[in-house]
Amino acid sequence: MRLRHIPGSEEEIAGSPYVVHSPFEKKGCWKEVFGNENPIEIEVGMGKGRFIMELAAIHPEINYVGIERYPSVLLRGLQKRALLELDNIFFMCVDAKNLADIFAPGEVQKVYLNFSDPWPKDRHAKRRLTSEDFMAVYDQILTTDGTVEFKTDNKDLFEYSLESIPRAGWLVKEFTYDLHHSQMGEGNVMTEYEEKFSSQGNPIYKLIAERK
Ligand code: SAM
Repeated sequence: MRLRHIPGSEEEIAGSPYVVHSPFEKKGCWKEVFGNENPIEIEVGMGKGRFIMELAAIHPEINYVGIERYPSVLLRGLQKRALLELDNIFFMCVDAKNLADIFAPGEVQKVYLNFSDPWPKDRHAKRRLTSEDFMAVYDQILTTDGTVEFKTDNKDLFEYSLESIPRAGWLVKEFTYDLHHSQMGEGNVMTEYEEKFSSQGNPIYKLIAERK
């Protein structure tokens, strides 16, 4: 998702109480950020954040961090966040390639990837959030039983991921080519993109990966 740059978005994010500032200084200290020992789940590329805010409202016993690299996109999420009374969610404006410098080993229980940018050209494959390089980043921050959950409507990216994830040394534990008509879809929380693409009749693909 690329929004036109919104003037003042960086300043608004810098002053927001819902954003983790200086995230690199929080490595190993995330329990203090939330003030409790609850497990932490993150969404990489949260966009406007509907999915992760809804999860946070359903699961007060879990802590959530939404990650988005574009300030103008994150700003939209912050505007919605301000209307909610939640104390188990924060956002960060960073590129996910830096996650291993932000979370210590075992600090994250689950990584959600929803409708990640497909980067269709081969020469950009490393930028896909399910590439071997990114799986190696998640490997450095997840608990030993931690999982990666990935949803998309892009068949090429999904099929690429079904190959890249095992190549990175992970097991694809479950997957479906039609989430909304499968058992894996029970309790599914929709994202903005999911709502849009499924309303156009596109099937939604999902996989869950864990370490071998
Ligand atoms: N997850 C949302 C949804 O399903 O509605 C948004 C999907 S949007 C297509 C993908 C988002 O991921 C964009 O907002 C993009 O800026 C963000 N993104 C892509 N690569 C990223 C990275 N390396 N680090 C952080 N955010 C990233």
